Amino acid sequence: MKPFGYVVAPDPAAAVAIVTMRPGAAFLGGGTNLVDLMKLGVVAPDVLVDVTGLLPDRVERQPGGGLRIGAGVRNSDLAADPQVRAEFPVLAQAVLAGASGQLRNMATVGGNLLQRTRCLYFQDVTKPCNKRTPGSGCPARAGDHRNLAVLGGSLHCVATHPSDMAVALAALDAVVHVEGAAGPRVIPLSGLYRLPGDEPDRETTLERGDLITAVEVPARPYARNSAYRKVRDRASYAFGVASVAAALDVAGGVVQDVRLALGAVAPVPWRARVAEQVLAGRPATAEWFGRAADAELAAAAPLRDNAFKVTLARNIVVRMLCVLAGVPAGDTA
Ligand SMILES: Cc1cc2nc3c(=O)[nH]c(=O)nc-3n(C[C@H](O)[C@H](O)[C@H](O)COP(=O)(O)OP(=O)(O)OC[C@H]3O[C@@H](n4cnc5c(N)ncnc54)[C@H](O)[C@@H]3O)c2cc1C
Ligand code: SF4
Repeated sequence: MKPFGYVVAPDPAAAVAIVTMRPGAAFLGGGTNLVDLMKLGVVAPDVLVDVTGLLPDRVERQPGGGLRIGAGVRNSDLAADPQVRAEFPVLAQAVLAGASGQLRNMATVGGNLLQRTRCLYFQDVTKPCNKRTPGSGCPARAGDHRNLAVLGGSLHCVATHPSDMAVALAALDAVVHVEGAAGPRVIPLSGLYRLPGDEPDRETTLERGDLITAVEVPARPYARNSAYRKVRDRASYAFGVASVAAALDVAGGVVQDVRLALGAVAPVPWRARVAEQVLAGRPATAEWFGRAADAELAAAAPLRDNAFKVTLARNIVVRMLCVLAGVPAGDTA
């Protein structure tokens, strides 16, 4: 590993200034992704700016009933927070579905959102990869892509976004607070990530030196009736093959409001807005849930070995919504 320096900045503004001015500097959260990538030679910062002591590390109630989650909150603390568990169960479940207890004890909210893809070629510096080395090619398209994207990919990259937490936050309409060289700003979570297009190396809309300081989740009637379901090759300690974050408000058997996001099937946490629109005002039945999932997944463009993810995602959506609506799934899922 290349030698690197370690700095603890006195405050967030100083941390932002260092990373903005110094191209080789990187923020250090829990280090559970960044340091792994440094060991693999995928990234080689010359100085790490530790932000764990600078960022808010509490989950705070907002006046409207929503929550403000400090970017320094450890993943374990977020999942254990009584307000999160009771009022936003999808978020607690998504965080617990990720990594292991030890990793969640170290990992921060800010670092979780910005963790990098698990595409095997991205992590192997002996292989070409457009995301790691722009213009070098994407061997995954013809190679091992069983667990890569079926939605939102491009000819240049079909990597999936790895975070479970981000999928739940996408469904919950979360916003991200950022401190940058030009001051603070707020970005909807859905506007934080970029599809790969012909620039897969640009994964987010953040600028160099932008520091995530907090995430805010609004209070909504559907948030309490929400859940996360992740299907993976192994029952624990594994990244998803497909996952769904769902929140549903039903009255008199009719969908009042619904929020859906898919994980592990796209380069970004995939907000299923087409499915949401299909369901608004419709009967809360397995049949309609299936129609909505089909409408969303009509845009899927699977590769040779991952078409099964389309069926899998559809079935999880239907099953999850049936559970939340309290209706039988029948043989549609
Ligand atoms: C074996 C293993 C299994 C895992 N399984 C899962 C899984 O199933 N699901 C899942 O979701 N995750 C999984 N993870 C990933 C884990 O959740 C992430 O490594 C972790 O959340 C990253 O958080 P961190 O604080 O350690 O980030 P770091 O590694 O410190 O940083 C990650 C990136 O974010 C940047 N950064 C950190 N904080 C900020 C900030 N506040 N503002 C701006 N930039 C920042 C860093 O510069 C770096 O680029 C797994 C990890 C491992 C090692
Ligand atoms: S899918 Fe993306 S990350 Fe994977 S090899 Fe292709 S360009 Fe690289």
